Amino acid sequence: MIVADASAPRELKTVHVAADFVVVGGGLSGTCAAIAAARAGLKVALVQDRPVLGGNASSEVRLWILGATSHGGNNNRWAREGGIINELLLENQFRNPGGNPVIFDSLVQDWVGREKNLTLMVNTQVFHAVTEANRVREIHAFNSQNSTMYRLTGDFFADSSGDGILVHLSGAAYRMGAEKAEEFDEPMAPGNNYGELLGHSMYFYTKDVGHPVDYVAPDFALKDVPSLIPRYRRFRTTEQGCSLWWIEWGGRLDTIHQSEEIKGELQKIVYGVWNYIKNSGEFPDAANLALEWVGTIPGKRESRRAEGDYILRQKDIIEQIEHDDDVCHGGWSIDLHPADGVYGDEEGCNQYHAKGVYGIPFRSMYSRNIDNLFTNGRLLSASHVAFGSTRVMATSSTVGQAIGTAAVLCVRHHCRPRDITKPLLMAELKRTLSAAGHYVPHYDALADGNKACEAEISVSSALSLTGLAHDGGWKRLTVSYAQLLPGRTDRDNVIHVPVKAETATTLTVELRISEKPENHTPEVRLTAIDLPLVTGEQTVAVPLPRLDREQYLFVCFGENPAVEIGLSSEQVTGLLAVKKGGLDKVSTTARQEAPDGLGVHSFDFWVPERRPNGRNIAFAADAPVHVFSADNLVSGPLRPIAAPNAWVADRTDAAPTVDLGFAKPVKAARLSLYLDCDYDHPLESVQYRHHDRVMPLLVHGGAVSVNGRVIAEIADNRSPVITVDLPEDEEISSLTLRLANAQGHPVALLGIRIE
Ligand SMILES: Cc1cc2nc3c(=O)[nH]c(=O)nc-3n(C[C@H](O)[C@H](O)[C@H](O)COP(=O)(O)OP(=O)(O)OC[C@H]3O[C@@H](n4cnc5c(N)ncnc54)[C@H](O)[C@@H]3O)c2cc1C
Repeated sequence: MIVADASAPRELKTVHVAADFVVVGGGLSGTCAAIAAARAGLKVALVQDRPVLGGNASSEVRLWILGATSHGGNNNRWAREGGIINELLLENQFRNPGGNPVIFDSLVQDWVGREKNLTLMVNTQVFHAVTEANRVREIHAFNSQNSTMYRLTGDFFADSSGDGILVHLSGAAYRMGAEKAEEFDEPMAPGNNYGELLGHSMYFYTKDVGHPVDYVAPDFALKDVPSLIPRYRRFRTTEQGCSLWWIEWGGRLDTIHQSEEIKGELQKIVYGVWNYIKNSGEFPDAANLALEWVGTIPGKRESRRAEGDYILRQKDIIEQIEHDDDVCHGGWSIDLHPADGVYGDEEGCNQYHAKGVYGIPFRSMYSRNIDNLFTNGRLLSASHVAFGSTRVMATSSTVGQAIGTAAVLCVRHHCRPRDITKPLLMAELKRTLSAAGHYVPHYDALADGNKACEAEISVSSALSLTGLAHDGGWKRLTVSYAQLLPGRTDRDNVIHVPVKAETATTLTVELRISEKPENHTPEVRLTAIDLPLVTGEQTVAVPLPRLDREQYLFVCFGENPAVEIGLSSEQVTGLLAVKKGGLDKVSTTARQEAPDGLGVHSFDFWVPERRPNGRNIAFAADAPVHVFSADNLVSGPLRPIAAPNAWVADRTDAAPTVDLGFAKPVKAARLSLYLDCDYDHPLESVQYRHHDRVMPLLVHGGAVSVNGRVIAEIADNRSPVITVDLPEDEEISSLTLRLANAQGHPVALLGIRIE
C-alpha cells in the first residue's frame, strides 16, 4: 500500500531514453523512417502521441494509403511505391482483403514489433526540445497513461509529426500557407480567394444492420444541410469513409492552433449530414443503416512545411525535372482544395497531373538550419503547390524510408544530413535504398556493389513472347482500348489480333508512344491505320514500327461499339492493357484540359481496368515482341519502366532455374531476389476490395543452393523481396535458384543482388 503524506510539490517520474535516431510522430512516414533505421542496426526511438500507429491511415482517421498510382486513375504505370510501405500494403491485401482499418493498425504494430532495435512509445507526446549550436540535443515527452516523463537524447532526430512540433521547437525554418506565384514561378499558386491552406476532414462509417433503425441527432448537429452545404445533392447512402473526403473545413483558420475549433465544426457537419440522410425523407434506402463509427480525430491535410536545402516546386513535378539527389518518387496530382471547403461553392478539389512520375530530391528531406534534423511526411520541404502532390501517405512513407536510411549513413560516417548529398554518400544512399526494394528514380538499381554482376548467368529458359492466347473472352470497344507492348529497336514486326464485328465497319488502329521514354502518356501518334472489317470473327494484322529507343508502344484500337476485341487471361510481367478515359475517383474526364497559363499540360488519360476485368489484348506476332532475357537479372530498374526489365521463364519451362557461376569465387552475406508484385496496382489500404490476395506474378516458392547444397527453401512467399542469408565464410563458386509460381503464371524475376 502507498500512502503519500503531504509533501513539497512532486516531480513526475522521468525516464531517460538514449537512441541514435529519434523519430517524432508515428504516422506512416515516421514509422517507415524508424523501421528503415532499426533494420540497419541503429538504436531507434519512435514517439507517437496517440495509442496506435499509422497517423491518418490508422483506424482513428481511416484514410486509404495512396501515392503515385493515384488509384490507377492517371498515366503513371507501374508506379506503386517500393520498400517498407510496399511490404505493408501487400501483407495488408493478404490479411485484410476487406480493407478493415483496425486490422491495418495491427499489421503496422506487427511490423514495428519485429524490430528489436526499435523502442516504440505510444501515448507519448513531445512538447519540449533542447537545441544548442544548431543541433537538437534532447526532447521531452509525456505519457499520460503511465504518468511518466521521457527525456530522449539522440544523434539525429526526425520530425514526422505532421504539424512539425520539433521543427517549431528547435527553431528550424518553416513555412505555412501559400507562396505567391512569382516566388517559384508557380502559376498554380492560389490567391486569397481560393485560400492558402487545405482544411481538415472527419469521416464516418455506416452499417446495414438488417432492420430499420431510427436516428436522433445530438443538439450540436448542423441543422439545415441543404442550405448550408452547396454540394449536398452528392450525398449517397452508399458512400462513407474516404469517399467523403470533401467534408472538409478549416482552411481559413490556423490549422494548428485552431485545430480543436475545426474539429468541433466537422463534428457538427458529420452528425448534421447523417441526420439529413436518416431523417430528411430523401433517402428511403437509409432505413436499415446505422451510424457505426465517427472519427474523433480529424485528418489534417496541411500546416507547417519545413525549409530544406531545396524547396520542391510546381515545375519539378509537372516538367518531371531530374535532380542528382532524387531518392524517392511522387505521382499524385497537384491536388489543391478551396479553403472554404464543404461550405464553399467551388469544387472540392482542383487536381492537375503530370505526364508521369517525378523525383523527390534528398535536399528536401532535412532542415536547412538545424544540422541533425530530418523532416518528412507533410513537413517535406516543398512549396504549397508541390505539397499538393507530395503529401499523400505512400509518397511520405518512401521519404520516411529514405531519411531512416540516411540517418544510418550519418551515424556511420559521422556526418550531417546535408553531407549525404556528396557523390559517394549519395551513391551509398541510393544503393542501400534500392537493395531494400525501395524505388530510386532514374537509377540502375543493380549495377552498383552487386556481386551477381560478376557471375556467368545461365537460365533454364527465357520467354520469347510471340503472343498471348485468346482465352479471355471479348471486349466491346465502347471506348478505345490499347495494349502496351515493349517496342523493338532492331526490327519491324506485325501482330495479328482477333476481332469480332457486328456489321461491316472500319476499325482505326493508332500506334502511339510517349515523348519521354520513361512515361506512359502516349501523346505522340506514330501512325494510324484503318482496317476494314466484315461481319463476324476475323483477325486483323497490325504492323508495329521499329522504335528509335527503348520504350513502350501503345497499340490503340479506336472506339467502335460495333466491334469487340479478343482478350487473353495470360499475365506477363510488364504487359498491360489500358482504356482511354478517366476513373470516377480521379480523372473523371478522359482528358486533362489545362487552362491557359496554369503551367500544366493537356493530355489524354489511358488507364488500366483492375482485375478480374482488366485483361491483356490477345495477339500473335510474326516475331517476338520482346525477349525476357537473363541480362535483366543484373541491370536496370526493379520494375517495368521503358521496358519490362525482367527475366521471365518460358511458359513451358517445368523447372525454372537460374544458375550463377563465379569463375573467381566470392564471399557474400546476403542474396536478395526482387519479384514482380504488380507495381501497377494501387492497393488502397481500406474500403477497397482487391481481386488477388497474393499478387499473381510473385515467385511463391523455390529453393536456393550454394555450391550444390540447398541453403534455403522458399514456401508460400508473398513478399516483394526475398532475402536469404548466405554462408559468409564460404567461398561461393555456384549459386542456383529454383523458382516456382503457384498461380500457374510464368516465373519472373526483376533482379538479383548479392552483397
Ligand atoms: C481528409 C484527408 C484526405 C486525404 N486523402 C489522402 C488519400 O486519399 N491518400 C493518402 O495517401 N493521403 C491522403 N491525405 C494526405 C495524408 O493523409 C497526409 O498528408 C499524411 O497523413 C501525412 O503523413 P504524416 O506522417 O506527415 O502525418 P500523419 O499521418 O498525420 O502522422 C503524424 C503523426 O504524428 C503524431 N504526432 C503529432 N504531434 C506529435 C507530438 N507532439 N508527439 C508525438 N507524436 C505526434 C500524430 O499523432 C500522427 O500520428 C489526406 C489527408 C486528409 C486530411
